Amino acid sequence: MAQAEIGLIGLGTMGAALALNIAEKGFPIAVWNRTAAVTQKFHDTAGDLASRVIPTETLEQLVAQITPPRAIILMVPAGEAVDAQLEALKPLLDADDLVIDAGNADFHDTNRRDAAELPFRFLGMGVSGGEEGARHGPAIMGGGDAADWDRVSHIMNAIAAKAEDGEPCAARMGDAGAGHFVKMVHNGIEYADMQMIAEVYGLMRDGDGMDAGAISDVFSRWNEGVLSSYLIEISAKVTAAADPHTGKAMPDVILDRAGQKGTGRWTAIEAQHLAAPIPVIEAAVMARNVSARLDERHAGQDRFGAAPQPCNIDPALLEQALIAGKIFCYAQGFTMISAASERFGWTLDLPEIAKVWRAGCIIRSSMLNDMAEALAEDPNRNLIMAPFFADLIEKGAPALREVVSKAIAAGHAMPALAQGLMWFDMMRTARGTANMIQAQRDFFGAHGFERLDDVENSHGPWAMNAG
Ligand code: NDP
Repeated sequence: MAQAEIGLIGLGTMGAALALNIAEKGFPIAVWNRTAAVTQKFHDTAGDLASRVIPTETLEQLVAQITPPRAIILMVPAGEAVDAQLEALKPLLDADDLVIDAGNADFHDTNRRDAAELPFRFLGMGVSGGEEGARHGPAIMGGGDAADWDRVSHIMNAIAAKAEDGEPCAARMGDAGAGHFVKMVHNGIEYADMQMIAEVYGLMRDGDGMDAGAISDVFSRWNEGVLSSYLIEISAKVTAAADPHTGKAMPDVILDRAGQKGTGRWTAIEAQHLAAPIPVIEAAVMARNVSARLDERHAGQDRFGAAPQPCNIDPALLEQALIAGKIFCYAQGFTMISAASERFGWTLDLPEIAKVWRAGCIIRSSMLNDMAEALAEDPNRNLIMAPFFADLIEKGAPALREVVSKAIAAGHAMPALAQGLMWFDMMRTARGTANMIQAQRDFFGAHGFERLDDVENSHGPWAMNAG
């Protein structure tokens, strides 16, 4: 007899943690994994929660164990594995059963699956927070029909992280791929935040000659202030950790080649489609790509000499620079979400998104409370114009300029922070230089231009002059 309130397919890192979280919150859960031994081991090691976990060996058994109308979470690698699972479930499910893809799907795929004639209901759902978050409270970004979300929202609210005010960090973002889109931008911001932290870490390590322990102390101090966030907190922890094999500081034994699964790249690509300027995120993706070219970088150093030279910058100045860079990066992310909302007709709720990101996810930070408030006041205003953030920027931007200038002069690569500054300077230049671009476009392509005065003439006298 069916006894599970929900089912889950894919007991890897995230699926196993999510299943235990669901069981812990009181919901009996049926689980199935492609490799049956994994299912058995999962059940055997579930401890007190094993009584609420129903292991199954076939998809038929899984389906039979869930009370109709069924809800099944998919936690398998994005892409083909999701399509294969949906295909396998087709003959087994009823029209009002619901499959929830909780992996890191490309939102275009989620749109496609949502539009496909699946013989059951379908939700796309972004889950952030890594294994720890999945186990004890992730941030959850749903996409699909409101009625489908409402059916499972009590479970999602129960397992999600809770913000300081007790609100669950789970919400339906909008139709179809909206949840996975917001999760994608979240990951783009994550890339940028990590890159900016790595850049100031590099200045302290290579410019100032600080050891990892001293850098850890700086991060710990920053975590008490405006920068207080999960990523600063773990940066303090990783710089404080010692390698059990050599006794050296952990960061000093780790190869400087960053991995990626693609969500940052997707964010950068999608931003181009949306004409949304997100240079800090794009720079972070670029930096990961350059980091991967280890041999070329070694050859470059051999040929041209090592770039970074001594460069002492007060950590207090670095802190202010990082605050400005972080605000710029989030402002860009929210602008991109806004552009997508308009393009795809999603009516995405920006303050709600900031709220969902306040806890559980990798980019959680104290600043997100203020961002949620600022966006609630006026969701159409660029975040840098909100009084709270404008005040922080007034202090942080000069620091960012000093840090970037000194760092560049001393050969330290600062792609993300520098792009933040470039963007900010453009954003406060009422008379920019695109008039020159327009003149050139009109010259070679007769594209026309708008004039500053009232004279009605959308083309320049180029042909006449050329003649
Ligand atoms: P893992 O590699 O740890 O687990 C993958 C799971 O999917 C395993 O249970 C595996 O089964 C199963 N699987 C793999 N291929 C197939 C297939 N073709 N058909 C059926 N089942 C398959 O992945 P994660 O748990 O880390 O990630 C799962 C999803 O969650 C991904 O989309 C990922 O991007 C996303 N995610 C991951 C985060 C993280 O921090 N790890 C954070 C947020 C989202 P088997 O045991 O048989 O190999």
